[in-house]
Amino acid sequence: MKIIKTIAELEPIAGSGRKKAFVPTMGNLHAGHLKLIEVAKRRVSSQNGLTVASIFVNRLQFAPHEDFDQYPRTLDQDCELLEAHGCDVVFAPDESVLYPSPQTVRVIPPTELADLWEGHFRPGFFTAVCTVVAKFFSMIRPDVAVFGQKDYQQLKVIELMVRQLNMPIQIIGVPTQRNESGLALSSRNNYLSQAQILKALELQAQLQKVAHDVHHTTLDFASITSKASQDLTQKGWQVDYVSLVKQSDLTLAHRGQDKQLVCLAAAKLGNTRLIDNLEITLTTEVPST
Ligand code: AMP
Repeated sequence: MKIIKTIAELEPIAGSGRKKAFVPTMGNLHAGHLKLIEVAKRRVSSQNGLTVASIFVNRLQFAPHEDFDQYPRTLDQDCELLEAHGCDVVFAPDESVLYPSPQTVRVIPPTELADLWEGHFRPGFFTAVCTVVAKFFSMIRPDVAVFGQKDYQQLKVIELMVRQLNMPIQIIGVPTQRNESGLALSSRNNYLSQAQILKALELQAQLQKVAHDVHHTTLDFASITSKASQDLTQKGWQVDYVSLVKQSDLTLAHRGQDKQLVCLAAAKLGNTRLIDNLEITLTTEVPST
């Protein structure tokens, strides 16, 4: 496996003519990231293709009060894991390589999508994500790029960017990988105490409860999610949002109209902000108890 720090070293790989599947990450890899590598590898290995991962903690996507400085950086361990999982190339540039001068050109996704949910609570987040991902796409020129459904809105934003900018890249979404108890794997789980790791399960449990209420009651969706939000608050969480939205455009869904739903949630446990989601498909409007 090649570990690359500069754009000059990357260029022969980008221009090699071989198929490339790309997995962007911020490092501190866990089994969720490694699943993306596995999916990427499967996409190109039969064609003698290359699997390329990036590791870069993108300062632009952190607000001043967020955890940029604290974010776990474990490059050596990450490279060992990537090598063991058959990754071919790791691109781990320093900030000075990616941003040699202030990044004044940015890719701004539309407010209708990017100012909802995560974008509302993290203003500018998706512009920062699109900008860095577009830069990686230009430098690596992948055929395929793999993202996690854990960051559901991010995946939607990237799909839209690729479509509207006619980037010749196939975007693949991979289901959220969880620990044996159902907690979505996340680098930010490292901030949690043992007790908080158990408590963190409450977030997915509330999403399951929302799905149950969608399927088995006639309650309107806003009542279901505000109850979920209240329950989490009562349990000591600081809730940013629990929302039942349409899978297609992430705007609010309504009972009787929408069937392809996803419940998106973000909440803080202590100082740690966690996100999770659950897709819900309604096949019938008749509640069955
Ligand atoms: P990050 O390092 O947090 O920027 O994540 C890099 C990629 O891994 C993103 O596409 C994430 O959606 C994806 N990812 C993170 N956690 C998980 C998970 N538990 N399951 C699947 N994909 C994940």
